[in-house]
Amino acid sequence: MVLIDLLAESKRNVPVYYLDTDLLFPETYALIERVRERYGIEPVAVRTELTLDAQARLHGEALWARDPDQCCALRKVAPQRAFLARYGAWITGLRRDQSDARKELPFIEWDASSGGLAKINPLADWSEQDVWDYVVAHDVPYNALHDRAFPSVGCLPCTRHVLPGEDPRAGRWPGFDKTECGIHPVSPAVERSS
Ligand code: SF4
Repeated sequence: MVLIDLLAESKRNVPVYYLDTDLLFPETYALIERVRERYGIEPVAVRTELTLDAQARLHGEALWARDPDQCCALRKVAPQRAFLARYGAWITGLRRDQSDARKELPFIEWDASSGGLAKINPLADWSEQDVWDYVVAHDVPYNALHDRAFPSVGCLPCTRHVLPGEDPRAGRWPGFDKTECGIHPVSPAVERSS
């Protein structure tokens, strides 16, 4: 949301998209509606053609509860890769303080996993507090779940609230040894600055 707000101020016509797995929280869909109204943009819903019914027929009911890696590969990674194939770069809101896996995050890296394009992480050195300070100062819309102990919001079946003292991403894929959906694998940096 910070990036969308910064882009709006820059007046640059940069496409904004989200991965619509058909399994997002109602609060997330409500936020997308608020983005439309506030910024006058039409976020692109990037999604698989595989309906939830078709996925259940092919892979069984509630794939996310048995094999979340495959579910993410079908509903997030593959659709995003197809979408990004037409671009030379993408911009993310990743930050180093989000997890151990992200603590070496560069500002710019080469994303071979998405077909080969630049990946730009302008908020790499922002802290969580920096983000909230910006959100409050600029009255940026945010997901209502953040006020209900959901610091990291994914799909509805795979995200729970976190308990006091837990890692901010502890609510993602509870019960599984999985910390990333697959759209952000670690890749070699081509430029690092601070
Ligand atoms: S986060 Fe869960 S429901 Fe969403 S695509 Fe991944 S496994 Fe499937």
